[in-house]
Amino acid sequence: MTPDYEHLAELNKAHLWHPFTQMKDYNNMDPLIIEKGEGIKLYDVQGRAYYDGFSSVWLNVHGHNVPELNEAIAGQLGKVAHSTLLGMANVPAIELAAKLAEITPQGLTKVFFSDSGATGVEIALKMAFQYWHNLGMTDKRTFITMREAYHGDTIGAVSVGAIPLYHERFRPMLFQPHVIPYPQAYRHPGGAAGAMEETLSSLRTMLEAHKEEIAALIVEPIVQGASGMMIMPSGCLSAIAALCREHGVLLIADEVATGFGRTGAMFACDLEHVSPDLMIVGKGLTGGYLPVAATLATDEVYSSFYADYEEQKTFFHGHSFTGNPLGCAVALASIKLFEERNLVAGVQDKAASVARKLAPLGAWPHVGDIRQQGLMVGIELVRDKATKEPYDWEDRIGVRTSLRARELGMLTRPLGNVIVFIPPLVSSEAELDDMIGILAEAIRDVTEGDWRL
Ligand SMILES: *Cc1c(COP(=O)(O)O)cnc(C)c1O
Repeated sequence: MTPDYEHLAELNKAHLWHPFTQMKDYNNMDPLIIEKGEGIKLYDVQGRAYYDGFSSVWLNVHGHNVPELNEAIAGQLGKVAHSTLLGMANVPAIELAAKLAEITPQGLTKVFFSDSGATGVEIALKMAFQYWHNLGMTDKRTFITMREAYHGDTIGAVSVGAIPLYHERFRPMLFQPHVIPYPQAYRHPGGAAGAMEETLSSLRTMLEAHKEEIAALIVEPIVQGASGMMIMPSGCLSAIAALCREHGVLLIADEVATGFGRTGAMFACDLEHVSPDLMIVGKGLTGGYLPVAATLATDEVYSSFYADYEEQKTFFHGHSFTGNPLGCAVALASIKLFEERNLVAGVQDKAASVARKLAPLGAWPHVGDIRQQGLMVGIELVRDKATKEPYDWEDRIGVRTSLRARELGMLTRPLGNVIVFIPPLVSSEAELDDMIGILAEAIRDVTEGDWRL
């Protein structure tokens, strides 16, 4: 039986509170209600099809309703849906931990599971903090984060977040990190080189002055996602890693958005041969199927906790669903598909053709900057191209462009004035063509035409 749209819409309005959503606006519109997915398309209850142009918020890899992934879950479901990792283990959690140790950057050998990117970040922050405590260096307890950083929405993750609109209001609830600039080439007077130099010199100064009290630096490697798909100049990440090492500060790589092939390497850290001390993966870990995240640590970090029981160096942290067997089983199946289909190399080829197809938009009067790393794309719309003057937030230029794209058959969600294009990694050339066509038409209709809400 097809679900009754009117009835569902009414219940949605009555009971469902949506994330990052002003419900007063939302309730004034007819809600999009998804019923099923197939390939890289989602279908609403009224039978309309949409390209998943943002991978259901940056996490889908192989498309929807993938037989191999469905079977992995069904197979595990026939055995056990959940058992705890507190004091015991389960088969898929062990196998996935070993697989992650194998495929992540060198030195990351220990895997601590949780259920979202944000919890993975909390774990990394607490591990870094307790690491220094375990070594008796209790003064090292603050963190460095980067301007406009986003690491999730729990309190620790918000503390190291630096997007004023999301985070400033909660400041009284938070701990205070040190903040250094993220290299944002587009608006930096010195361009990419100037932005990188500013970041590195400010980090160097910070470390020289405060290294005795800094536990770790947390960074979104290569692509800072939520701030608008800001791409680091080449060499910046490895220079940040070297400075941290030199000054005895741990490096935490938040690969929640960038991990699993998204940037054209399995992990963004691989692009610059960086081996962080702690790394968080989430989103694409299960192919975007189930809520599993993992925090990876080095032997060095792990061994500081490894002590006689009486010393109380245990890591006192866990979640009910830590190491969930269904999630771990689908993650293993997803990683297997990566290997069988040589997906990461495919991303590099597709990224090159996406860049070619998007290039003409660069000349358009309201396209300020096209930022792309692998299949992560942000297109910044500006009111005035010469001065880079942004649209006012009241213009809702990103929201309107995304709504127009939806009308034309593709889903995406903007970041302010930045249009996001993050297609599933398996998208074919023809599908990418189609999606870019929709994107271009939506941008033109909203910035140059007279399309209105
Ligand atoms: C999405 C994201 C998170 C948060 O992950 P959730 O699963 O939404 O909690 C953390 N860091 C980065 C870089 C992200 O993009």
